[in-house]
Amino acid sequence: MTTPERELTSPALWWDGIPRATPEPPLETAITTQYAIVGGGYTGLWTAYFLKQRQPQADVVLVEAHRIGHGASGRNGGWLMGSLEGLSTFVSADGRLAQSVRSTLNQLVTDAGKTLSEAEIDCDFHHGGCIMAAARYDAQTDRARAALENFRGLGFSDEDYQWLSPQQLKEKVMVAKPGGGIYTPHVARIQPAKLVTGLTKAVKALGVRLFEHTRASSISPGQVTCDRGIIHADHIVIATEGYSEYGSPLHRRIVPVQSGMVATEPLSGSQWNSLGLHEQETLADFSRAATYLQRTADNRLVVGARGHYRPGGLPQHSLSDDDALRRHREKVAQSLFPQLQGVTFTHSWGGSVGVARAWQPHVLYDRATGMATAGGYVGEGVGASFLFGQTLADLLTNIPSERVQMPWVASRELTALKKWEPEPIPRWGFNALMTTFRVEEWLASRYGGSVPSALAAKLCDRITPH
Ligand SMILES: Cc1cc2nc3c(=O)[nH]c(=O)nc-3n(C[C@H](O)[C@H](O)[C@H](O)COP(=O)(O)OP(=O)(O)OC[C@H]3O[C@@H](n4cnc5c(N)ncnc54)[C@H](O)[C@@H]3O)c2cc1C
Repeated sequence: MTTPERELTSPALWWDGIPRATPEPPLETAITTQYAIVGGGYTGLWTAYFLKQRQPQADVVLVEAHRIGHGASGRNGGWLMGSLEGLSTFVSADGRLAQSVRSTLNQLVTDAGKTLSEAEIDCDFHHGGCIMAAARYDAQTDRARAALENFRGLGFSDEDYQWLSPQQLKEKVMVAKPGGGIYTPHVARIQPAKLVTGLTKAVKALGVRLFEHTRASSISPGQVTCDRGIIHADHIVIATEGYSEYGSPLHRRIVPVQSGMVATEPLSGSQWNSLGLHEQETLADFSRAATYLQRTADNRLVVGARGHYRPGGLPQHSLSDDDALRRHREKVAQSLFPQLQGVTFTHSWGGSVGVARAWQPHVLYDRATGMATAGGYVGEGVGASFLFGQTLADLLTNIPSERVQMPWVASRELTALKKWEPEPIPRWGFNALMTTFRVEEWLASRYGGSVPSALAAKLCDRITPH
């Protein structure tokens, strides 16, 4: 069943004041095409974009169950990262990432910026890098040092991930308890909805045929059956990620985990002087359940923290998020920046990220059936989808590239992705993970250095997926 449109009108910062184009018509006939793409998020849109770059005459069709950008692509935190979730699973035999992998990732943000400017997509892209900070309690300093060691072990240089002393950290950002951190240039900030609308306009101008409010109800090699139409296609790309519900071959192969954000009102120059982030860097702290922030082009602070898992493993269609989670995120923001006391939080929203059973992202293409997919980004898909969209376009048009040699790319059937255990097992597992993280954080912030805190940290190290 599709979600009623009224649910989608709850306020999300990124869509405020963004003129929405008239919806593309739904598909109501049978059509034939070379390339059919299911899912109108960044993965589907970038794939369409790069297919048309490589084969301008190619016929490309994209169908989206709701409006384009309905999924995570229209709701995220706007970090465009030159990194992937689970990087350490992609190491070579020597325990390091291959040089080609490191250079592909290190180049990603610059390449994305170049493509955005060539395509004339204005999405507030700002290549200010990222500060990962030990910011709230002492144990975060050990985690920061371990993270730096891990980056070094993977083969990244000091230019890629650079240690910040507490003093250097303080000069960049005035967090509550500056204990040192890491700076990387390989992150840019974007405005997610502007990227969705800009990319949609770009692919439309290139001649991609778009159909909104068109849900693919069954997908098999050569055919996508939609609610009111059918697509016969040589190649099919499934880009449904955390919104892969019944009918998508990725259903239960990618499960949705909820993530959410809060945003402040625009802050004044003097408020920003008390916070920092003068280069408009993105910011994260070393909490287990990812706390990530950006300074927007209109000078708000946007903060993402802690996810949850919905009963039945269902994706989150509505934009509005649970009140308790909203309060938690506001509290995290205030504990990072006590200076925010009295500041109004104006927006709160959430959405679903996609998690594969292997807890790592993938690009799959089965030449025999013409079926392809990319995703499993675990909440790190803004930059990755730019890279994976290009990779899919290379694979589908048979263009040799370094991208198709990357360790996350496989010539496999989609069924090679392992199915998750039946519900509620994944939900229990996820909730147990989050509860353990919460307890550890509570112990570390109040009783740092104590035996229970050290034991909880050891347990968390063991159960963290990567
Ligand atoms: C709150 C939040 C914060 C995040 N922050 C960041 C961040 O700062 N940096 C980062 O890198 N990543 C972040 N992410 C993750 C990132 O947004 C995603 O990884 C990325 O947008 C995935 O893009 P996608 O196109 O693969 O999937 P989506 O954008 O989820 O698109 C999938 C689309 O498929 C459509 N669909 C599903 N089934 C069908 C069907 N049967 N027929 C037709 N259409 C269908 C859906 O309606 C949806 O629009 C965040 C995610 C959330 C939710």
